[in-house]
Amino acid sequence: MKTLNTLSNYINGEWCISATTNYLEVKNPATVEVMAQVPLSTATEVNAAVQAAATAFITWRRTPATERVQYLFKLKNLLEENLEDLARTITQECGKTLAESKGEMQRAIENVEVACGIPIMMQGTNSEDIARGIDEMMIRQPLGVCAAICPFNFPGMIPFWFLPYALACGNTYIIKPSEKVPLTMQKIFQLLEKTGLPKGVVNLVNGAKETVDSILDNPQVRAISFVGSTPVAKYIYSRGAASGKRMQCQGGAKNPIIILPDADMEMTTRIAADSAFGCAGQRCLAASVAVTVGEAQNSFTEAIVETAKKRIVGNGLDENVEMGTVISAESQKRIEGLIQKGNEEGAKLLVDGRKPQISGYEKGYFIRPTILDNVNPGATIAKTEIFGPVLGLMHVNTIDEAIALVNSGQYGNMACLFTTSGAAARKFRYEAEAGNIGINIGVAAPMAFFPFSGWKESFFGDLHGQGNHAVEFFTQTKVVVERWRDDWARKF
Ligand code: NAD
Repeated sequence: MKTLNTLSNYINGEWCISATTNYLEVKNPATVEVMAQVPLSTATEVNAAVQAAATAFITWRRTPATERVQYLFKLKNLLEENLEDLARTITQECGKTLAESKGEMQRAIENVEVACGIPIMMQGTNSEDIARGIDEMMIRQPLGVCAAICPFNFPGMIPFWFLPYALACGNTYIIKPSEKVPLTMQKIFQLLEKTGLPKGVVNLVNGAKETVDSILDNPQVRAISFVGSTPVAKYIYSRGAASGKRMQCQGGAKNPIIILPDADMEMTTRIAADSAFGCAGQRCLAASVAVTVGEAQNSFTEAIVETAKKRIVGNGLDENVEMGTVISAESQKRIEGLIQKGNEEGAKLLVDGRKPQISGYEKGYFIRPTILDNVNPGATIAKTEIFGPVLGLMHVNTIDEAIALVNSGQYGNMACLFTTSGAAARKFRYEAEAGNIGINIGVAAPMAFFPFSGWKESFFGDLHGQGNHAVEFFTQTKVVVERWRDDWARKF
């Protein structure tokens, strides 16, 4: 096992120390202990990774799909064998609970499993006799070198929305993990190395903006998948598209959940609390605003306040802890500032989670669950992605008003409804403007065989990650029209 102190890149099948002089510290957000330093890799290193991937592509694309997936079967086994260790690493660098980290890795593995079906998923189509003696077919071919630029909140899962499909389709790959949580990918690349993948097929380049810009500007990179905040998604989408790359960029969110008076309130509260406070609110599918309709106001408000107060907050590695830290001191400060602003703009603080004392972890980046009531739809806190354990409450009288509120938001990542009425559920599914919809579900995360959707300012592009969208994204279609005259066969 390599020492994880100064992190390396993995280029062309070799672990390499970066030539940069710029490093960032990687801190455990619960203990504030420095675990490693991550290099901000240079353009030369990015270009070396791209060159290695381009060279590897020549043979990799000629490797039959049935052979390519054998590496993924090995990877699935290795990920399962090392799940505990990977989950601990995620918790240590990202702050979420161990159970959440294990769930994250499970989702990663599911994507590997789905990508193993590539021999059938990437099949083309054909039509015989489009005219006399003429046949037409569509075949799918890989693009070449592709790359992923990843956020901090799911260091183990999000790269797997893309990587297994890219490889299975015959592309070669570069991953740029978030500089805040680079340790998980160091470990996953050690496992990728063990699968025996040919050198250059997968490459790891650590860094931040400058490293990303070098990937965006490299003409040999054919497609980029990005997940992160909306301003960066927009920037990456436009800069990559300007140089002719295929782009898919998932952005931020501000997810509303609607609670109707007929909802099962006990279940709804439990699920809503898990959505708003799970992963300390740092999920792109975290509930951020709860809109109650009519009589749901009193029962839901009372129940969610009780649930929020009871949540056990601490170091995610400790047993019984239900919620960990936010990612950094800056993030903690930003979230506390937004809570303050929400209060100043008229919302009532029913539960204030700022500056909690967590015994043994006094310096950690903790915020306890927070609830702001009567949030004004025009207030900053109603529109801004908080990305922390903060739930705003709004109250309306009809489902139409609630749906109008949902649809007035700039984001469209997820929207959920809690009800026992099928007709209300259908209306919501039909009218809500979001890419992922939950009905009596608080985190409507699509399984690996469905696209991870997202609308409006939450997504830039056409094809999403996961499932057959990923297969379409990582292949280009070629249409062949062939004429074979019968009389040419007569000589045999
Ligand atoms: P971020 O946008 O700060 O960073 C994401 C990646 O972009 C990182 O790898 C970072 O190094 C790079 N980056 C940052 N600034 C850059 C710049 N100016 N130029 C080029 N590259 C840059 O996001 P984050 O804080 O790591 O992640 C949290 C965000 O991700 C939240 O907004 C969350 O909603 C979003 N997210 C969205 C989804 C989704 O599916 N829509 C999933 C997970 C996270």
